[in-house]
Amino acid sequence: MRELIDDLKKKKLFIFDLDGVIYRGKKLIENVNKIIKELREMSIKVIYNTNNSTITREMYVDKLNKLGIESKISDFYTSASITTSEITKMKKNSKVFVIGEIGLKKELENSGHIILKEDEEVDNVDYVVVGLDRDLTYNKLYSAQKCILEKGAEFIATNSDSTLPVEKGIKPGAGVMVNAVTTCTGKYPKVIYGKPNPFGINKILEDNSLMKEYAVMIGDRLNTDILAGNRAGITTIAVLTGVTTRSEIENIRITLNNAENDKDLLPNLIIEKLDDIFIS
Ligand SMILES: [Mg+2]
Repeated sequence: MRELIDDLKKKKLFIFDLDGVIYRGKKLIENVNKIIKELREMSIKVIYNTNNSTITREMYVDKLNKLGIESKISDFYTSASITTSEITKMKKNSKVFVIGEIGLKKELENSGHIILKEDEEVDNVDYVVVGLDRDLTYNKLYSAQKCILEKGAEFIATNSDSTLPVEKGIKPGAGVMVNAVTTCTGKYPKVIYGKPNPFGINKILEDNSLMKEYAVMIGDRLNTDILAGNRAGITTIAVLTGVTTRSEIENIRITLNNAENDKDLLPNLIIEKLDDIFIS
């Protein structure tokens, strides 16, 4: 059995981002399946925390199983599942208008919430929930606007990523939909549950009854994964198999002097590939 590097020896929980860390688009990043297995053999708990709300946790289980990583629903915390569990705490069986895809709609439906159709005539709407929607239309925005301005709905967002990484480059992210709703209502979301909000990581720690010193966040994006991990007070590792390059991180370090806020964008560790968590 390989040994973990010194900084990680005491850790009991590894929280991984998915895209750019475990896989890139549909392709497994080399060796990652073996590394996850090795961690589990060391009795380390592995959890996945993604901002991508477009597919359900069941679909993530399928996707990882196909890539050779055994997993179960409770291993996944998506911005859709986190948002849904918080909405359920606030109100059971609420009426929701969704700008988003199946991942978000199914999570809400499975928890008993009622998903309204576009132009559905109802007097009161509890929430407008906005996530990534690759079929966004003018009419969906109009419905969201009406629900918020005329029907008392609270505006909530899953995440506000500016871009969505795809196999070859980037596409517009959920933040585009969130900003569109803000523009036509004059309102900002009451809460954005996804990273960089540390909310999801805190929830993972709580659900696993673990103190923060035992957890580590591994991600490829500074302004979501690393920022959320630092805000939650856990060890953060940036892995360079995704969207961030070493020179981007160095540039932040160099310009830090007058931008105290940027400090939280810097990871505790930078690794080229996941294998580097082990002593070679
Ligand atoms: Mg990522």
